[in-house]
Amino acid sequence: MSQVPVSRRRFLQGLGILAASGVAGWSLARPRLVNPCRAALPLGLSASPWLTGVWRDLNPADVWDCHAHLAGTGDGGSGIQVGPQLSSPLRPLQYAQRLFYMNAGCAHDAPGRVDASYVDRMLNLVEAMPAGVKLMLFAFDHFHDAEGQPLPEMSAFYVPDDYARQLAAAHPQAFEWVASIHPYRADAVDRLDAAVAQGAKAIKWLPAAQNMDPASPRCDAFYAALARHRLPLITHCGEEKAVQGADTQHYGNPLRLRRALEAGVRVVVAHCASMGQDEDLDRGGRVESFQLFARLMDEPAWQKLLAGDISAITLRNRDLEVIKTLLQRQDWHGRLLNGSDYPLPGILPLISPSALASGGLLPPEAVADLELLREHNPLYFDLALKRALSWQGQAFPARVFATRPHFEAHRS
Ligand SMILES: [Zn+2]
Repeated sequence: MSQVPVSRRRFLQGLGILAASGVAGWSLARPRLVNPCRAALPLGLSASPWLTGVWRDLNPADVWDCHAHLAGTGDGGSGIQVGPQLSSPLRPLQYAQRLFYMNAGCAHDAPGRVDASYVDRMLNLVEAMPAGVKLMLFAFDHFHDAEGQPLPEMSAFYVPDDYARQLAAAHPQAFEWVASIHPYRADAVDRLDAAVAQGAKAIKWLPAAQNMDPASPRCDAFYAALARHRLPLITHCGEEKAVQGADTQHYGNPLRLRRALEAGVRVVVAHCASMGQDEDLDRGGRVESFQLFARLMDEPAWQKLLAGDISAITLRNRDLEVIKTLLQRQDWHGRLLNGSDYPLPGILPLISPSALASGGLLPPEAVADLELLREHNPLYFDLALKRALSWQGQAFPARVFATRPHFEAHRS
């Protein structure tokens, strides 16, 4: 295939490939696939009970969205690199995914200003919410080999720590930052110390895409340093579809995190491991990754160390039973943390309020307002949707959304 510029035709081809692959589980019959990227909220919407209800018992200054991705192309000097897996038309699935990410962040119509428009859009969305709400922006380290050498050609994408740090410094009213440091690097602990000194609020790993085995002794020095700093490690568990690394899916097995927990590390399991299956390393066989997350949550030894973030649990490729369990397990609620997985909530077909309503998890009368809200502000939409979810009378309590204390606790 020749190097043709990104065209609408190719974008739509990409959509077709994505849809055919069933990755996100949407139907092309839905009328609108592209986020219209509107900004201000329409007047009628601001009085919507589904919007005003968001702030019941909730101080906006405590609402730190603990799962937000930085994206871009590097055109603004961000240092972002998009690896061959995501940039090559020869890998159409990943290519289409990248275009979709960019569209969700509304950077698709900004040639030469993709990095900057992605950030502008996030600022825009945060500013439309009550003052105090912030996004925790994720850096993303390279894929590294077993010796701790970075392999850019194996990396799906790369977002430097410095970029996330600089954005948080430039926009302290809207952003906090989360470093991403591969534990096999020779300078991993030094980098961690520096990140903490520079205000990082957590470390983000995506083990399957970055080639890190959380159960490896190679992580021990890093774990000791994380425990010393009491800095949370937000790590992806369960199947990883948004980014494809090498054949390393098993690194996302929640049970592999026991090594970190035994070292005293505060761990946040991204998405509560709500997708995919893993080997049951205790009992044999393959089970839902979420079951293994649940087992860890129920192990008394980790009560003070282990938490889960509820980002992406509402995506259409998730099982509604997962949401029901998370709503019903009140004993877990003190350890659930809200995150949006931005830009995913901006990808219109990925979350279906009406499917959640038919599943009995959302009042049907909320659907129209939520869908309208999403067109204007996918971050606000994500928050309002999760505040409105309930099963058999049980909703997520406000403290699930008041995540700031969890990430500031490492300072004390
Ligand atoms: Zn994510």
